[in-house]
Amino acid sequence: MRTVIFLDLDETLVSTRPARDPFSAIGQNFTSLLRPYAQEFLLELSTAYPLYLLTAGDRDFQTEVLKHHKIDTYFLKIFGRQDIGHAINLGKPLIPGILPLLIDDLNPASYGFFQKFMAIGNLPEALQNIRSQTLEEMDQQEALLDDFTQVHYLQIKMFGGNPLDQELVNILPAIFQKAAKLNI
Ligand SMILES: [Mg+2]
Repeated sequence: MRTVIFLDLDETLVSTRPARDPFSAIGQNFTSLLRPYAQEFLLELSTAYPLYLLTAGDRDFQTEVLKHHKIDTYFLKIFGRQDIGHAINLGKPLIPGILPLLIDDLNPASYGFFQKFMAIGNLPEALQNIRSQTLEEMDQQEALLDDFTQVHYLQIKMFGGNPLDQELVNILPAIFQKAAKLNI
């Protein structure tokens, strides 16, 4: 199986906010900052592994954000909210036959993270059934999810628009290490 890397967008690669202009308060204008070293980070990662964007945001909107920063070409495909919802409804993975590694600023214990991996469809079978009958089974599921998270997830600190941020440089060795372990 191939290892592929999924990258989150908001607060992982960019920080996008509604523009603070009182004359455009209807939310049509946005300010978006690209995280420092994003170009170098994406170039290095996309050279080594297939790269996909996975965002809980709207696909078309986030594609515009990527184009605005000229980083859209690094990704083989952009998966947005609608794609995740579709995959969940069909119960099919976004990309079949892969070992995913997800880089996201989200707390892995959160519902959103779980949903994403459900959508990717690469959770172990025991985790796919979220309606446990007993507390013991729930504990087992949690332990399984913890194991899965250890292997398939890496949390990055939130960007928040800090111009001195260096997290993309700092996290790169850990990404390569995890991806290499998956590749065996
Ligand atoms: Mg995020």
